[in-house]
Amino acid sequence: MSRIVYVNGRYVPYAKAAVHVEDRGFQFADAIYEVCQVRAGNLVDEERHMARLARSLGELKIPAPMSAAALAHVMRETIRRNRVKDGLVYLQVTRGEGPREFVFPGEDVPRTIVCIARAVSPAPHDATAAQGIAVKTMPDLRWRRSDIKTVMLLPACLAKEAARGDGAREAWLIDNEGFVTEGASSNAWIVSAEGTVITRQIAPAILAGVTRATLIDLLREEKVPYVERPFRIAEALQAREAFITSATNTVMPVVRIDGSPIGDGKPGPLTLELRSKFDHFAAISGA
Ligand code: PLP
Repeated sequence: MSRIVYVNGRYVPYAKAAVHVEDRGFQFADAIYEVCQVRAGNLVDEERHMARLARSLGELKIPAPMSAAALAHVMRETIRRNRVKDGLVYLQVTRGEGPREFVFPGEDVPRTIVCIARAVSPAPHDATAAQGIAVKTMPDLRWRRSDIKTVMLLPACLAKEAARGDGAREAWLIDNEGFVTEGASSNAWIVSAEGTVITRQIAPAILAGVTRATLIDLLREEKVPYVERPFRIAEALQAREAFITSATNTVMPVVRIDGSPIGDGKPGPLTLELRSKFDHFAAISGA
């Protein structure tokens, strides 16, 4: 079965899908996106993803190309046409195409919309989670509005490439004061020796992860103590457990930071429990 991509109102074969060479997403990274997990053909955490997408558009003054409900329909239809059961769906909205000018085009210029769905088998992810991942620290080179989910991802690519060079799956980005902002494509968490879960508070320096928000709901439900505040690598190295969250990884244990083990160097029990609780939530979300 050939893959189908949504581009500007049409569902087209993957090999034929194209946008204009003067699209502002291509020229200026003048575009936002969302990535949602797909479970049993359903969007996980749809409402939160659509709310964040609307916020990203609003912060960049990109007029919404269609209602949130219509965008969600595009995502669902792309999933359906590709018969994706478990995987990911990617939706990108750019400010549209036009001659290369820094200032915005008129609001009548149609936004470019692209939606791609991809099947991802859960088994390799679960195998990785059973081992845990290594992370490498890197300076946070991004702009000061990392709360907006833009396609301006070059600093994340550079950090992840450096991490890969060191055998690490993720980079933890460090701000000018020495605090961890977040992962290159995930939120960063530690569990203190006393069992308190710690993650940085929502601010322009980090993306308000949808998985992060849902996990905080779960922590509250389970009465697990947590605090939203910044932490340094020195504190993370003393932590009992560490993990990352994202729609692609859900809850993924971190067992090494810059080569040093966290706790006993194995995925932490609370992390694995939270992963399984999130998994349960995802299985029923949108079903
Ligand atoms: N932080 C950054 C920089 C990200 O790119 C992502 C996901 O892509 C996240 C955090 C996690 O967000 P979510 O849980 O919504 O996938």
